[in-house]
Formats: sequence, C-alpha cells, structure tokens
Amino acid sequence: MSTIRGAKKVIYELKKQHYEAYIVGGAVRDHILKQPTTDIDITTNAKPHQVAKIFKTKPTGLKYGTVTVFMGDETFEVTTYRVDGQYIDSRHPEDVLFVESVEEDVKRRDFTINGLLMTEKEEIIDYVDGRADLQLKIIKTIGNPIDRFNEDALRIMRAFYFQSKLGFQIEKETRDAITEMKDKLKDIAMERILNEMIKLLQGGHVKKALKSMITTGVHEVLPGLKEGIIYAEDMDEIPFVDAFFTLCFTLSGSVPASWPFSNKHRHRYETARMLSESNQTFDPYTLYTYGIDLCLLANRVNYMLKKTKNLTNKIELDYKNLPIQSDLDLKLRATEIIALANKKAGAWVKNLQTEMVVEVLNRRLKNEKSELERYVLEHI
Ligand code: ATP
Ligand code: MG
Repeated sequence: MSTIRGAKKVIYELKKQHYEAYIVGGAVRDHILKQPTTDIDITTNAKPHQVAKIFKTKPTGLKYGTVTVFMGDETFEVTTYRVDGQYIDSRHPEDVLFVESVEEDVKRRDFTINGLLMTEKEEIIDYVDGRADLQLKIIKTIGNPIDRFNEDALRIMRAFYFQSKLGFQIEKETRDAITEMKDKLKDIAMERILNEMIKLLQGGHVKKALKSMITTGVHEVLPGLKEGIIYAEDMDEIPFVDAFFTLCFTLSGSVPASWPFSNKHRHRYETARMLSESNQTFDPYTLYTYGIDLCLLANRVNYMLKKTKNLTNKIELDYKNLPIQSDLDLKLRATEIIALANKKAGAWVKNLQTEMVVEVLNRRLKNEKSELERYVLEHI
C-alpha cells in the first residue's frame, strides 16, 4: 500500500538533495479520475545508487533503474529517467539508457493517459496531451502507434486492459494499428500476456475490452481463447477469471500448453473442462472424487453454455450430505483392513477401499466400523 501523501514525502526528500522527482503513470491517472491506486511510481533524475543513499531501498529492477523505496509501512517504485534500448539501438533492445530530461522519460511510456506527471504540489505536467485524452476517455499511444506496438507488442494487451479497467474507447489510429500489428503478440512472452489478460478479466468493463479484441482480431492470436471470447462477449455477465478460462477451454477442446498456468490452475481448468464436457450430473461419486470446487466450476460452465440448469444449490446440498468426503473419513483404516484380512498388503487393499467408498456413497453400506469390518470379511 502507498499513498499520494507518502509519495510527496519521497519527492520532498529527493528535491532536498537537489534531484528532480515526480509521481508518474497510473497513480497520476487514477488521482485525476479520483480512483483508488495501489502502487505509486516515482520518476527521478537521481540514479539508483543515489536514491539508495537517501532511503531504505531494495534493488527491485536495477537493470531498468528501479528501486523500491520504503517509507514507514509504505513502498514506492522509484525509477531513474530512462528510455528503452529499442529507441537507441535495435540490436540491444534489453538495454536501458538513463536520460537527462523527464520529457524523454515520459515519451517512452505507452499511452497518453499513462504519461502524466504530478509534482509534490499536485500540479500536473503534461507533455503528451494525456489530460485531454483522460477527459475524452480515450486510450491512445504516445507517438506513432505502429512504431510503439513494434517496439513492444505487449502494449496491445495493455490497451485492452486499460479499456477494461477504465471503460474508455481505444482511439481509432491506435485501434487500426492494433489490427495491423496483432501478430507481433506471438513474439511476446506468454507470461506477460497472461498477466495482462488476468488483469483485464478483473476490470469493470471486460465486455468492452473483449469486443475490441474481436473487432481488431486479437482474439485469434491468443491460443484457445477465440471461441470463449466470442461466446463471453455475448453474455450478460462476463464470467470471472477461472470460469472464463474454463469456458474458453471447454469450447476450444483443450488447455493449450503454451499458457504458463501454475500446475494448480492447469489441473483445475483441465479437470473442470473434462467434467463439463462429459456433461456430468454430479452424482455422489463425482462430488466425492473431484470435490465441490471443481464440480461447481464445471456446473457453472455447463450452465453458461446452456447445457444444463444451474445446479449450484443442488451440488452444495448433495456435497454437504455426502456420507464421506474423503478416504480419511472411512471408519476403517488400511492397516486395520490388512490385519483383519490377515493377508499381505497389496493392490487389493486400495481396490477394496474404493469398493467400500462406492458402497458407502451409494448408501448401500453404513460408514460404521462393524459394518465395514463385515464387508471386508465378506469380500476378501
Ligand atoms: P495499474 O493501475 O495497472 O498499475 P499503471 O498505469 O500503473 O496501471 P503499470 O503496469 O503499473 O501500469 O506501469 C506503470 C507505468 O509504466 C505505466 O503507467 C506506463 O507509464 C509505464 N509502462 C508500463 N508498461 C509499459 C510498456 N509495456 N510500455 C511503455 N510504458 C509502460
Ligand atoms: Mg501501476
């Protein structure tokens, strides 16, 4: 967490040492829009080692001239004025070059609404006509959009993210450039794209962003999302992140390997997709095997796809009423089964346990120790 008040203090300290410093980017935009901000960026002509002399810092992105400054319990990202390597020398796009003027620093930024500066006196400095675009509610690149997307195609995804967050329109020339440059997204690391996509899905104007993705054709370059984006764009309420991805992959038929989901999420989308596809009615054994979360997710997708009614209440009730919810609930342990049967441990134990689980779930066998013991003796 950080506040404008805290940021002003950081600027004050930097200026005391005769450096220049401004709040920049999203925090200025959100301040003008009177929207809450979580992270505040400060841009300065002080070099990282000079910033480190004044504050308690952590070198978060030294390569890019960024250090995190700690002030009380607040943190600020403080970055030295710079331009990206692409500008200067296309052979070393990963390099950054520190520059003297804040104007140059602002002009390397993505959109005009993200290029505003604010002083510690809350004066706005605008080298890019960002304030007018904020008023007009438009997202427009700083400079020629074709060049700017050529430098970093991730900005295409960022345009949609800001549209989803702010509800703004993407300005025509910028939109046309997106249509023309969309294939460049294929060169961008999928981690970065996924990151923007997840942020986009959490915005208040997701539908608008999905619509723009369709009109510019960007939905076609995102593996496995095309059908889902088209489908969701037509829905009254856009599903949240997990349900959105599950919907997409149910429609496309698989979870593409190229998306760098965590193992947990990949498993979640794959299993829910499979459950949705096999058109489950969520019987006790399915509820027991996959757990309530995955069953609810698959049901939600089935419902969105109009395959079934909304079974949420029924699933919740049925799950609550399951006689057992995991192997551990069975009132006879594997060791007890082995002792009772007086046989060597082997695959038969697991098989017998599974049989008992099915019997208990179907209420043909009570989950009571004596009943389970009798079952074991009858079935070995
Ligand atoms: P958010 O509300 O999501 O934090 P933000 O505008 O602060 O929005 P960040 O991703 O935090 O966005 O980036 C901070 C600032 O850095 C941006 O406002 C923009 O000026 C600049 N920036 C970030 N990513 C890029 C990029 N890919 N190309 C150019 N400038 C960028
Ligand atoms: Mg930010």
